[in-house]
Order: sequence, then structure tokens, then C-alpha cells
Amino acid sequence: MEMDTLQEMFIDELKDVLSAEKQLTKALPKMAKAATDPKLKTAFEDHLEQTKGHIERLEQVFEIVEKKPIAKTCKAMQGLVEEGSEIIEEDMSEEVKDAALIAAAQKVEHYEIATYGTLATWAKLLGMKNAEKILRMTLKEEGDTDHKLTQLAESGINVAAA
Ligand code: FE
Ligand code: FE
Repeated sequence: MEMDTLQEMFIDELKDVLSAEKQLTKALPKMAKAATDPKLKTAFEDHLEQTKGHIERLEQVFEIVEKKPIAKTCKAMQGLVEEGSEIIEEDMSEEVKDAALIAAAQKVEHYEIATYGTLATWAKLLGMKNAEKILRMTLKEEGDTDHKLTQLAESGINVAAA
């Protein structure tokens, strides 16, 4: 594959994930508000703060590639956020809603894990060690969040829903 083509794809994917992260800074406060379990509420609030950091890290990567940090609407995230909104608006018990919010949030994290994994690999292929390092820091936080949500689900929220 031509390296200049990979570089273009890399920048395109950066713009996509910047849009995804920006959408999440709006969605996560709503999910925190809709959650009943205090630990789940805190998990969403904590991840909102991390997400703001993910945007800052993306801006650093844009600087490395000498491009302006312009977001390009991530349609996949629009869909995932919309599914989250439907759960928030739906009339269901607090327990079931918490379980459904975890499911929606984990879909988001998995999407981000796929994206940052790809971006880190491409940064490495393009010889951008610093960019790779920055992207892997975010990848780690997305993975940790996914695990935390699994723990919350397994530690009782899903049991309460059942
Ligand atoms: Fe993120
Ligand atoms: Fe995330």
C-alpha cells in the first residue's frame, strides 16, 4: 500500500474519531443522569472527563501530522448515541434501564477500541512513534472503561434487572 494513501486514511480516521468523541461529551452527561446505580453514574461521569482528555490527545496527534483538528461526522457513533437516547427515553424499571445503559455504553467502547487500535497500528506503520504512544494511552482507557462496565454488570446491576 502506498504510504501517502495510508497517511490520508489515517487523517480521515482521526477526523472521524474526533467527531465520535465530541458526540460522546454530549451523550455521557445524559447517560449519567439517566443511570440510577451510583457506581454506574460515577463511571459515566469519570469517563466523560477521560473523553475530554481523548479529544485533547487527538488534537496532539493532529499537530504531529500538521493538520487542523476538524471533525468529520462519525455516522456510526450517531447511531450508537441514538440507541442510547432511545433507552434513556424509554419507560422501564430503573434496574432494567441501568442494564440497558451498560449495554449501550459497551457498544460505544468497543467501537472506540476498534478505532484506536486501528489508528495506533497505522501510526506505527507510518513511523509516527509519538502518535502511536498517544493513541495507545486512549486505547487503554477505553479498554479499562469496558472492563469496568462488565464488572458493574456482573456485580449486580444485571442480576437486579433479572
Ligand atoms: Fe474516547
Ligand atoms: Fe470511551
